[in-house]
Amino acid sequence: MTDLDAFARASLDGYLALVREHESTLTALDEQSGDGDFGHNLSHGLERAASRAAGAPDSEVWRSLATAFLDEVGGTSGPLFGLLFQAIARAADHASTPAEAIGNGSRDGLAAVQRVGEAQVGDRTLVDALQPAVDALAAEGDLDSAADAACRGAADSARLRARMGRASYVGERAVGHPDPGAVGIAMLFVACAQATGSEPPGAFGELTGSR
Ligand code: ADP
Ligand code: MG
Repeated sequence: MTDLDAFARASLDGYLALVREHESTLTALDEQSGDGDFGHNLSHGLERAASRAAGAPDSEVWRSLATAFLDEVGGTSGPLFGLLFQAIARAADHASTPAEAIGNGSRDGLAAVQRVGEAQVGDRTLVDALQPAVDALAAEGDLDSAADAACRGAADSARLRARMGRASYVGERAVGHPDPGAVGIAMLFVACAQATGSEPPGAFGELTGSR
């Protein structure tokens, strides 16, 4: 087992723990802006990934996440998270550090998400957290900066009116609450930073109501 494999396993465990703890917040956010299934979609995908990964070598953890979300999770977000994990799995095969795996993987994953969903920053989607994290990794090269940038991007999505996805049907009603998908992505980057021994950034408390 390499450090990168241990990092993948710790990221999945930490992400699952964060989403279990905050599933009701994610559900409530999706009730404000959509149909309320996002908390379940994300937690179900992570539970399925954990069960697939339990019987697999550590080197297959990111692929377990990809296949669980691509094959077993509905909603708009399921396949988009699946594409992100697939890109991280590919990048991790050729990376020598966690930051390199997540930096290259999230960059390629963002491109795949945008190829399929065509969202840009400002459309009030998970891209509002993913793009700042990708930019922070390219500029700073560390997971703490990425987690902070993803949390700030997700928090800033509260000001936006949705132009994509189901939230675009409810218009102003969602303004004042962050986009659930963006918060879900912020939790992924927080889990990755925690897997390398870091504390969650201060901006994370803003998203989850805990400080
Ligand atoms: P659904 O709207 O089908 O119920 P989910 O509840 O699973 O989907 O996921 C909702 C999240 O999906 C939103 O909060 C948003 O972040 C994300 N999303 C929606 N459309 C897009 C898109 N075109 N590109 C990126 N993310 C999107
Ligand atoms: Mg939904």
